[in-house]
Amino acid sequence: MNPAENPFLSPSDLPYGLPPFQRIREEHYVPAFEQGMAEHLAEVAAIADNPERPTFENTIEALERAGALLDRVSAVFFNRASSDTTPGIQKIQQDVTPRLAKHADAVHLNAKLFARIRAVEAGGEEERWLLDRYLTDFTRAGALLDAADQERLRGLNERLSELATTFQQNLLADTNDRAVVVDEAAELDGLTEDAVRGLAETARERGLDGKHVITLVLPTGQPSLASLTDRSLRERVHTASIGRGAANAELIREMALLRRERARLLGYADHAEYVLADQTAGTTGAVTEMLAKLVPPAVANARREQAELEELAGHAVRPWDWAFYAEKAREARYDIDGARLRPYFELNAVLEKGVFYAATRLYGITFTERKDLAGYHPDVRVFEVFDSGGAPLGLFLGDFHARASKRGGAWMNSLVRQSALEGARPVVVNNLNIVKGEPTLMTFDEVNTMFHEFGHALHALFSDVRFPRFSGTAVPRDFVEYPSQVNEMWATHPEILANYAKHYETGEPMPQELVDRLLESQKFNQGFATVEYLAATLLDWAWHTEYSGEDPAAFETKALADVGVDLPAVPPRYRSTYFSHIWAGGYSAGYYSYIWSEVLDADTVEWFNENGGLLRENGDRFRRELLSKGGSVDPMAAFRAFRGRDPEITPLLARRGLL
Ligand SMILES: [Zn+2]
Repeated sequence: MNPAENPFLSPSDLPYGLPPFQRIREEHYVPAFEQGMAEHLAEVAAIADNPERPTFENTIEALERAGALLDRVSAVFFNRASSDTTPGIQKIQQDVTPRLAKHADAVHLNAKLFARIRAVEAGGEEERWLLDRYLTDFTRAGALLDAADQERLRGLNERLSELATTFQQNLLADTNDRAVVVDEAAELDGLTEDAVRGLAETARERGLDGKHVITLVLPTGQPSLASLTDRSLRERVHTASIGRGAANAELIREMALLRRERARLLGYADHAEYVLADQTAGTTGAVTEMLAKLVPPAVANARREQAELEELAGHAVRPWDWAFYAEKAREARYDIDGARLRPYFELNAVLEKGVFYAATRLYGITFTERKDLAGYHPDVRVFEVFDSGGAPLGLFLGDFHARASKRGGAWMNSLVRQSALEGARPVVVNNLNIVKGEPTLMTFDEVNTMFHEFGHALHALFSDVRFPRFSGTAVPRDFVEYPSQVNEMWATHPEILANYAKHYETGEPMPQELVDRLLESQKFNQGFATVEYLAATLLDWAWHTEYSGEDPAAFETKALADVGVDLPAVPPRYRSTYFSHIWAGGYSAGYYSYIWSEVLDADTVEWFNENGGLLRENGDRFRRELLSKGGSVDPMAAFRAFRGRDPEITPLLARRGLL
């Protein structure tokens, strides 16, 4: 292959190693993946066969440097596959993911290499920690198994990665297919004119001129349910939502069984135990115990909320009614409704005068839009980030808008990982799913999500580690949500909110009484929110601790009933067949992570509040002790260094009204 023809073959010459998106075409991916895997295997073989005595430098550090081409193409491809896919990309994904699983096995199951790693002696603290991670990675990947078991493991990994891709693609197709078509505009009563126009536009794009189409977002609860007055349309939207992924039922049965088989092959009782061994939680017992503590008070809160809503509604509240009456109750109690708030949350203002401004206040960093640098889609905006002294820090790409080619939800991706070893500075992307408008006005939830995802971005941008393996967000999954959740606190901080929440037409700041009610209303409906989250968490947990081949739908029903989170009016945030976090998103036996991280988050928010809040010295401390460390130290040690003690759960219980 000629490097002039395939832009992946040489390092990017753009600032910060930004991928040359304008030159990348679909036909470049497969050859780059193939050459990337071949080069990586050759590098690994050279390390394994090195006749010299194994040292940290010629083994671990050499492994850290290996696989540059494969890293380049993977980072670009998987971001693209999530945020702007095409039938061609999907086909490549289908083809390439099992081959990548096979490739990872070829590295981890290389006996000579493993023997060499075991013979290495590490000097400094970070080096010892890295060596320890390598030994753990290899052991968990099956390096200690005999040849026959390793062969079986390779087969399991390959099949599991195929199934994960199929799951995701089935779900994307089904989510698009199940969009609800509305014939009569009158049925849309309750939505704003803007929203109705958006639905008409979606219908036009689908060749359904004159109709309206309500597309589905990833979680069970659909945003339109809070506003639609037509109860039967609400039921249709809800039914479409919970019916998603029917084609995935057989697939998740197979995945759960294969994961269990793999865990047992590796010496663990089940998939959850296998996952937990490498998390800060440590044992499945620790997680079960924590969830058991949260369920009864959360369910009691949700039941109390339901009784209030039923009094307001004058009838039993079904799942498709909850958001609608909750919104009514919120309006009655706080005299606040979404339509009154949105004009104060214009996207650019939220981003630059909210999210960026908070980071400037806390960390002294500044942002300059680089219109000369292209993203992978016309909607992507590229910002250069400068450190407090003006030194270049990295690039931040914002891809905020929803489109049919983007999966649901919000997430952060690294396009280039920071590492001193390779002299690489970070390039990160935040993806959200905000419907574009003229201008784009956001809900407060979306504002909060923007702060959240930027918290992940900061974790990557502030990364100051030597080895790529430790870069930024490369921490255990039950720790990774912690910094992003902390960053949400600034969305409602009085000085930050006052800086960004201004009416998009008049420039007037949000009136103080509206601010007060917005803040007060944040505590509203917490029973529902906690229960729908816990129900999804406990489903994930059941699939990976108890499942043994039962009918998937029956298993789901029983799993929820067994732990007492089967409130008919509060369905799980995700049902099994569209729970992509656990089947295709790397959160298997890990959805508990959000609340596990929230313990650290709430405890940290308390620390900021006790120490004067929005101050440079506070931001600097959080950056120095926590954000900059990435995975280069034991995460709980970093937490203790920051907080000055072990985490306490009380702030979380107080926040969620569970005391
Ligand atoms: Zn997150």
